[in-house]
Amino acid sequence: EHVNAESKQSEESLRSPICCIMGHVDAGKTKLLDRIRGTNVQEGEAGGITQQVGATFFPAENIRERAKEINVDIAKLKVPGLLVIDTPGHEAFTNMRSRGSGLCDIAILVVDLMHGLERQTIESLNLLKSRNTDFIVALNKVDRLYGWKTCRNTRFKEALERQAKDVKNEFYMRLNQVITQFKEQGLNTDLYYEGNMRERYNIVPTSAITGEGIPELLWLLLQWSQKTMVEKLTYSDQVQCNVLEVKVVEGLGKTIDVVLVNGVLHEGDQIVVCGNEEPIVTTIRSLLTPHPMKELRVKGTYLHHKEIKAAQFVKITAQGLEHAIAGTSLYVVRPQDDLEGIKEAAMQDVKSVTSRIDKS
Ligand code: GDP
Repeated sequence: EHVNAESKQSEESLRSPICCIMGHVDAGKTKLLDRIRGTNVQEGEAGGITQQVGATFFPAENIRERAKEINVDIAKLKVPGLLVIDTPGHEAFTNMRSRGSGLCDIAILVVDLMHGLERQTIESLNLLKSRNTDFIVALNKVDRLYGWKTCRNTRFKEALERQAKDVKNEFYMRLNQVITQFKEQGLNTDLYYEGNMRERYNIVPTSAITGEGIPELLWLLLQWSQKTMVEKLTYSDQVQCNVLEVKVVEGLGKTIDVVLVNGVLHEGDQIVVCGNEEPIVTTIRSLLTPHPMKELRVKGTYLHHKEIKAAQFVKITAQGLEHAIAGTSLYVVRPQDDLEGIKEAAMQDVKSVTSRIDKS
């Protein structure tokens, strides 16, 4: 069976990888995502939009197009897409960051080149370490180096070659400081194009404003997906689904935003979610996602789905979600399942969530 395992893998049998974007507040997470997506959430967010969890789904087709632009052959990309979760950097969201990072297969850790490792960078690092999650460092804001000559959307290595000597020197000085700071955290890091990239965590210098390094960031994400997909990303019918947020949406009432890590959800599925005092047993009224390449939090219409396959970020509407608790698992009840057992399992989650809240 194993001999053929790889050739049998197709977009049907693999789920999309989940990528989390983390880092200190203001390091440039939102802006980087905007740059990758080609949208502009960051500038329209005066109303506190960063204080929500966002997610973007990049369909495989779209990634293929982007890869062509950067001359990378990803004909072999066999995942249906890439799901990127963006957790807020603000103090109050430690729990949400913890929830988000727990679900991801890989992370982008954004570090501001001018500031080095900051408190929430280290907090994010610790979350990633504790879960053994692989990550890529985006060393962002290279355009802020004094005298930097803009090379739009160019590979970083080429852009650096075109800089004056003292710009290069300042870059290497700051890079080395960051590498030393990572060492102090017990982690080996280096520029992605130096030495053996498999033996450490890779640093990609980027600018979310002028686009240097963005091609490589995408390329590294894809490389990683290709490498690990067969072992980690096998699609399973067993639903694995987590509630990230519970919120009221005008016209929809109380909704839950969930990350479907594996399996499939259908409209009309009976589900069990952990509630304040008792388990909530209800039926999925609608499964909603933003339009591809757009953000759930950008105001706009939702796409309705009869069914959704992992991995996806989904907004669920259903009756009785008033007391649902974020950070818990969502269970689907199939006809053969033992409802009482599932209700008990759902309520077990509340204990782990509350103990995490107590600790932070
Ligand atoms: P977040 O809190 O990590 O999501 O950070 P934002 O994406 O909101 O960025 C914080 C600030 O830094 C904003 O004013 C951005 O315009 C700015 N910024 C982000 N990335 C870059 C970059 O690569 N270069 C420069 N010069 N500014 C950036």
